[in-house]
Amino acid sequence: MLKINKITVKSILTKSGFPDDDFCINPYSGCLFGCSYCFADFMRRFSGHAHEKWGEYVDIKVNAPELLEKELMNLEKRIINGAWKSKSLRKKPSIVVGSVTDPYQGVEAKYEITRKCLEAIILSRSTAKFNILTKGHLVTRDVDLLRKIPSIVVGFTITTTDDTVSRLMEGNAPPVSIRLKALKKLNDAGIGTYVCINPLLPNFVKNEKSILKLFQAIRDTGNKEIWLEHINLGGNKLKRITRILADKAPDQIRYFEAAKNEEYKNDLNRLIFRILEDFNFKIGGGGIFDHVRKTVIVRDKKDTKKMSKTDWVIEEVGNI
Ligand code: SF4
Repeated sequence: MLKINKITVKSILTKSGFPDDDFCINPYSGCLFGCSYCFADFMRRFSGHAHEKWGEYVDIKVNAPELLEKELMNLEKRIINGAWKSKSLRKKPSIVVGSVTDPYQGVEAKYEITRKCLEAIILSRSTAKFNILTKGHLVTRDVDLLRKIPSIVVGFTITTTDDTVSRLMEGNAPPVSIRLKALKKLNDAGIGTYVCINPLLPNFVKNEKSILKLFQAIRDTGNKEIWLEHINLGGNKLKRITRILADKAPDQIRYFEAAKNEEYKNDLNRLIFRILEDFNFKIGGGGIFDHVRKTVIVRDKKDTKKMSKTDWVIEEVGNI
């Protein structure tokens, strides 16, 4: 049974562990989309839900918008008087909306906490850079507000073009066909976007056509930037995914088991770099992220058709 609770929080602008963001805003705690590979399920332990299943509860932070306006105004004062220092060389803070929850999951249609947070951003006159990460097409409802925020982009997580796969791996999230339409709508409306292909789903190694189709579908929406990341099967992830697949797609389990191997990752790196040559995407972070090794694999040589696994550069990155 799904549990929906209203809560109040003491703070809403919290430090981000992402290498590219200084702060995060999570209007909800928990996520009813309940993706099989979600890395945010560790949050159960920190939010009093240790004994509940990820995907079956959500806490609605009812005072988030009010707090956000105040906290952004304070941050702005710190920027002006030089008291704020970025962990990178950025002059303005970078803030992600939705690092451990989806800000446009279904409850947002009724509670509008994310929408009200956007209103708070506008009222605060914040000069920070904002970045919304979602799988929810509901974000298109807020185009009117997004247009009023000078520096904001919307990232959609899109891992496949097949609705059956997205339904299987991404629980209650909107099917990917709907996400692609929403992505196009944002691009048509002039809102900056990017796509997170995170995780790279394991059967891709055996299926070059799927990657090609995915890149083409993303390009057709007008989106120009993509971020790529290998699947993180640490902790209990493989167990959880195996449980889900055992019922509906047991033949896929072996691909996920193989995805832990270096050989699998090397094959996939080689394939992706080669296919990318036919696309003009900007690659976020410059390459393919590997959370387990805390590295980003960067294409090094031009002729990827002949690439061996030593032909790319592995760069250390911070927390990912
Ligand atoms: S939408 Fe994001 S936060 Fe929500 S369950 Fe899926 S991966 Fe986790």
